[in-house]
Amino acid sequence: MKRLAIAGNPNCGKTSLFNNITGANYHVANYPGVTVEKKEAVIKHRNSEFKVVDLPGTYSLSPYSLEEVVARDYVVNEKPDVVIDVLDASNLERNLYMFIQFMELHVPVVIALNMMDVARKRNVEIDVKALEKILGAPVVETVARENKGTAQLLDEVSAYIDKGNDVSDFKISYGQDVDVVLDKMTPIIEENSFLTDKYPARWIALKYLENDEQVHAQGALYVDVHKQLLEMTDKLNAHLRATLKVTAENLIADYRYGYINSILKGVLVSEEKSLDRLYLSDKVDMVLTHRLFGPVFMLAFLYGIYEFTFWASEYPVGWLESFFGWLSKAVDAGLNEGMLKSLLVSGIIDGVGGVIGFAPLILFMFFAIAIMEDSGYMARTAYMLDRVFRLFGLQGNSVVSYIVSGGIAGGCAVPGVMAARTIKGEKERLITILTAPFMPCGAKLPVYALIIAAFFEHNRSTIMLGITLISWLLALSIARVLGFFVLKEKSSSAFVMELPPYRMPTLKGLTIHAWERCWMYVRKAGTVILAISILLWVLMTFPEMNDKQLAVFEAKASSIEQQYSRETVNEAESNAKNVSPSATELREKLREVDSEIAASGLANSVAGKTGRFLEPVTKYAGFDWKTNIALIGGIAAKEVVVSSLGTAYSLGEVDIEDSVPLAEALVSKSGWTLATAYSLLIFTLLYSPCFVTVVAIAKEGGSWYWALFTVVGYTSIAFIASVLTYQILA
Ligand code: GDP
Ligand code: MG
Repeated sequence: MKRLAIAGNPNCGKTSLFNNITGANYHVANYPGVTVEKKEAVIKHRNSEFKVVDLPGTYSLSPYSLEEVVARDYVVNEKPDVVIDVLDASNLERNLYMFIQFMELHVPVVIALNMMDVARKRNVEIDVKALEKILGAPVVETVARENKGTAQLLDEVSAYIDKGNDVSDFKISYGQDVDVVLDKMTPIIEENSFLTDKYPARWIALKYLENDEQVHAQGALYVDVHKQLLEMTDKLNAHLRATLKVTAENLIADYRYGYINSILKGVLVSEEKSLDRLYLSDKVDMVLTHRLFGPVFMLAFLYGIYEFTFWASEYPVGWLESFFGWLSKAVDAGLNEGMLKSLLVSGIIDGVGGVIGFAPLILFMFFAIAIMEDSGYMARTAYMLDRVFRLFGLQGNSVVSYIVSGGIAGGCAVPGVMAARTIKGEKERLITILTAPFMPCGAKLPVYALIIAAFFEHNRSTIMLGITLISWLLALSIARVLGFFVLKEKSSSAFVMELPPYRMPTLKGLTIHAWERCWMYVRKAGTVILAISILLWVLMTFPEMNDKQLAVFEAKASSIEQQYSRETVNEAESNAKNVSPSATELREKLREVDSEIAASGLANSVAGKTGRFLEPVTKYAGFDWKTNIALIGGIAAKEVVVSSLGTAYSLGEVDIEDSVPLAEALVSKSGWTLATAYSLLIFTLLYSPCFVTVVAIAKEGGSWYWALFTVVGYTSIAFIASVLTYQILA
């Protein structure tokens, strides 16, 4: 089976092309060890089978971001038979940059020249035959959005593989100074077989000159050659600085663009003349990124997103709630009293069901966010926030981290923390890593949604917008404070953000993006959250009460029963009615005893004892012991706050007929007030990141010290903030 990989810049149409090739029939996984999504499919084309992989969208193959590392490692280690490099024909200059890097890596490439419709509309005419010749790679024109050119592309790929191409003679000149050094380095690398099992020799030399950290790390194992190459690099840099005031890295990039420009001169028959999309984009940007109106629009968009999400998900969330309610009752009626029933009903259905119940909300939230992303508005948001971030000692790339972490709502701090790799300054990087987890990530969302459903039914979007703004404000303030304690080098580099032209999103693209992420949420609920819920159920159930404790309740029950039977006898004599008022009353009393048993069972369990142990302190923030259990569980994963509240209230439940949805239970049975709700929102917003994030912080931040600080320090800050909130409002 031949292996294909699809690569290209973000937004060049990779996903569309991948879907055309695979018919959207693919498998989603993660690249090993990281949370970058990997889509894979096996397809058949004219009797040959291909395994197709969608690489993350990147602008280059330098290891500045996780995506770039993943894409490069995949190409180098897996050695696909062909890489399909998708180029945006309307933006060839930037798109060719990555192609050149593939060529220097000696990767066999077939080019999909996509967005040909856009190029034509903008009067960009490309001489494809000439381009093919100059690049030395097959070029196929496509319009991925309309599924045009897919079959030809696959035909070219097959033909290219059959022909067995040699790609090892590609070479760009980087000017006298650099070329001389490259020519000295290359033989040293070859003679010592220095990393040459993986990479071409001249490429390794280039990467030393470009200060490629990943290659440095791999090369450092071979001390001598490594040192020699570093010395040559330093010498060249010193020379370049003295003569041209640039580093080798900058110079190399300049030459690549120069090379691209000369290619374009040869293949661009006519340039854009008409009123085109870029021009239109500029006009729209004059309004949408205006210094004053821009932020106002941004807030309005956010509010709109939340309105849409709550409005669209209201009924489906209700349906799921009814479904899980029905399921609880069915299981309750079908099974005998006992551990299994308790596990199924209280641990799994009322616990995990509560988390899955919010899946529609997640789906619509991601749909709305996909609109922002696919249209190009998300890039504007980052661009505008760059100005704000500078006030707090951060920079534009930190915005990207925050947004990935769930800045608008619904992301994840783990890729958010990793996205901080693109940040140049050590100081900004560490501070971003430490503060990104405050964002309203997809796991905190069900917690917020639950509290909003219970207490803020009438101003849902306002509260959600408030949560978002407070998250940013607190994250930035804490970033500012951390700035005094983090003693590392700051970067002075300017943040240059590409603003891609606006584009009309397609329904298919939006649906796929939203569905993929929603599916991740459901999968996590069905695996990790399920496991933690079962564990918490165990902790909330055991140890069971001993005989002595039970005996007290039994005595109480039997004395009531005796009274009950005596009185029924008496009443049977006096009147012949079936159920007398006093009999109902006594039955009620018996149920009270039952519910006391359930409550003290929960209170006696390991989790219950822990919760109660903390209650004397946490009560100042308005948290009772059941809430404490949920919040501790939330350190494992934030969704667990919802699932363990579900389990706790379910275990305290005697009669399933009486049980109400969790949000209602929080209002009617928990004793929570509005002050508790606010206090809990603040606590959830601020306290310890979840376990996986803490590990990511330790790894990316380079120290367990900081990771531990986020657990202990943030929980303390959260507690103080919650106590203040509660005491002021209560
Ligand atoms: P990716 O980020 O590279 O995966 O790009 P997507 O496949 O998500 O496409 C980004 C946007 O460009 C979507 O709105 C697509 O519908 C649109 N798009 C993709 N291919 C074409 C094309 O050939 N022509 C036009 N006009 N739009 C396209
Ligand atoms: Mg994509």
